[in-house]
Amino acid sequence: MNHFEYRNGVLHAEGVPLPRIAAEVGTPVYVYSTATLTRHYRVFADAFAATGLDATVCYAVKANSNQAVIATLAQLGAGADVVSEGELRRALAAGVPRGKIVFSGVGKSAAEMAFAIEAGIAQINVESVAELDQLSRVASGMGAEVPIALRVNPDVDAKTHAKISTGKKENKFGIDIDDAPAIFARARDLPGLAPISIAVHIGSQLTDLAPYRAAFGRVADLARALQADGFDIRHLDLGGGLGIPYDAEDPPPPDAYARMVAETVGDLGLPVMLEPGRMIVGNAGVLLARTLYIKQGREKRFAVLDAAMNDLIRPALYDGHHRIQRVREPEADAEPLAYDVVGPVCESGDTFATGRRIAPLAADDLVVFGSAGAYGAVMASTYNSRLLVPEVLVNGDRYAVVRGRQTYDEMIGQDRLADWLRADAPEPSVTDNQETPRRAAGADG
Ligand SMILES: *Cc1c(COP(=O)(O)O)cnc(C)c1O
Repeated sequence: MNHFEYRNGVLHAEGVPLPRIAAEVGTPVYVYSTATLTRHYRVFADAFAATGLDATVCYAVKANSNQAVIATLAQLGAGADVVSEGELRRALAAGVPRGKIVFSGVGKSAAEMAFAIEAGIAQINVESVAELDQLSRVASGMGAEVPIALRVNPDVDAKTHAKISTGKKENKFGIDIDDAPAIFARARDLPGLAPISIAVHIGSQLTDLAPYRAAFGRVADLARALQADGFDIRHLDLGGGLGIPYDAEDPPPPDAYARMVAETVGDLGLPVMLEPGRMIVGNAGVLLARTLYIKQGREKRFAVLDAAMNDLIRPALYDGHHRIQRVREPEADAEPLAYDVVGPVCESGDTFATGRRIAPLAADDLVVFGSAGAYGAVMASTYNSRLLVPEVLVNGDRYAVVRGRQTYDEMIGQDRLADWLRADAPEPSVTDNQETPRRAAGADG
């Protein structure tokens, strides 16, 4: 459930009419709902509390790393799962307690490791032997002992889109689960490391519990084997990945998910960490855009918007579906028309939907893309030299711009002309390079 609803014929985010945000902040713009974020966090955390499991929710920051979003969740008690030093810095800046931060990811640099150790976070999740050895060197060099998890790859098909499936043998993530006991033994022998946890994350947008059951069952077996071998396993990190309804999907509700976790690993009596991202923020955000033109081709009707693939790349990258809805509520008898909904970027891939049936649109109409709170703004770019999209957080009748729209000066000002390209650059002297011909300019040439 979310808090984007029509009131008096106008789509609102909680108590704020979206046309107001469009007028005051401009479009395209991401709009997030505090009430939806809060609700999703609570539903998820409460589902685990009801099972009696000792569970910590470490919100997966990569889904939406705006500090206002992280802070909203941190104030509800969330920890954070981060995958880069940048995300770690954001989580710390947003007030997430260091003891609830987990550092995941397949390629942490030595500098990132050192930063995380210095920050004193809860755990670093290691994904390869090479990374294990590197972390040992960095930690022992700092005189530290880092709590680590080994991320295992359980070779389970998450049955999700290929680009977001991570738990099969051929994926780059984790250590083959059959090799885990030997690598745990290596970790125990290396200086600077305290191997205390097993981590697993098999993919994203899962709509079925069966792959989880298979993966967590294998993790539980591994935990028992390691305990029998004398390892002090202190908790399990079970990753994220629970899907959301973008269209007709019917993902399992959080309480069914939590019960499945209790059934698969509960008898170990270990605390668990969960890393939901999409499930918390996905339906808590929309991308608000304006129709620039309706273009009637011979065969197709295009709605050309002011938002593009650089603002929301999921359709181009993952064939992602987003509900597209008019902000002005359609009349009850309005016959939907089929549109190809596209952006202004010079790529045919800049297409949000083809043949989508929507209530008739006119130039200047506002529309929203639903379920755009996760993997939306975080993936935005300035491709085609379009300004980085702003973000707004609504709370009841209030809203705040939580990331302003970039200015052209900020975007263009990042570039530097090389010395030799500057109009006022001195001519190269003969001593610089004997071969350099004098600049051929004008009549001298
Ligand atoms: C991406 C990721 C998550 C979050 O996935 P969602 O599908 O957004 O819940 C959790 N853990 C790890 C290690 C990840 O890489």
